[in-house]
Amino acid sequence: MNILTFDIEDWFHILDNPKTVDIEQWNSFPSRIDSGVSRLLDFCDRTGVKATFFILGWVAETAPEIVAEISRRGHEIACHSYRHQLVYSQTPEEFERDLAMALDHIEAATGIRPTAYRAPGFSITRESTWAFDILARNGIDTDASVFPALRAHGGLPGFPSGEPCHLETISGQHLKIFPMSYGRVFGRRIVFSGGGYFRLLPYSALKLGFDRSDYVMTYFHPRDFDPEQPIVPGLGPVRQFKSYVGLGTSLARLERLADKIDFISIGEAIIRTDWSSVPLLASGDLFSTA
Ligand SMILES: [Zn+2]
Repeated sequence: MNILTFDIEDWFHILDNPKTVDIEQWNSFPSRIDSGVSRLLDFCDRTGVKATFFILGWVAETAPEIVAEISRRGHEIACHSYRHQLVYSQTPEEFERDLAMALDHIEAATGIRPTAYRAPGFSITRESTWAFDILARNGIDTDASVFPALRAHGGLPGFPSGEPCHLETISGQHLKIFPMSYGRVFGRRIVFSGGGYFRLLPYSALKLGFDRSDYVMTYFHPRDFDPEQPIVPGLGPVRQFKSYVGLGTSLARLERLADKIDFISIGEAIIRTDWSSVPLLASGDLFSTA
């Protein structure tokens, strides 16, 4: 299974950056969400792919017609929080308020209340696994927030699986977990199906990564395919490199892959998965192996 997902946020929704963290500042940046989403939808139409779109609640509120168009074109609508803040920087109460606002705005724009969620920056970490309980009690049954490798904004490097599994939360609720997939380089887990690695690796290595995996979860943003976007103020040189390298060729690269690979949405992957045979993890298992 190769799952195609997009996180629908604008070029300035970069995490952990003081110059863009405050929602009050966002309206002062010129939006590129219209052209960014159109580019993704046209790509999906050209390649015949139906994908999962994790929508930022703020985008659903400020550009509802664009979010509605994603749904009209037949894609799966999912949730990517409202304010795009790191989960572990919030209290459980703040996280739950943010989630409810996001679900309300996405439902208002599309008529669909999402049941799948991805945290900003994959930021559900060891200190914030309470988030899984809050997701489950707010109608979320599927989560794609687990990044089973080291990462600037958290990650769960000890997560025991790189494939779909069940999670029993602390209060005994169940979630379907679709973690990021990874390959291994010198024993280290490398997530190649999104972010800087997707754009930097030679195409042959990338293709090999897909070919060797039974399960690949991808993650992309409109800005990953937009070479004309402004540079976000306040980023250091390393983050700037990782954020902007390869933007001019990334869509052609994804298109070349889509030509050879059958991409599906999370909803379709749920149908194709035999849930009676996937591992059932408890919260304590989330950090069990390195
Ligand atoms: Zn995001």
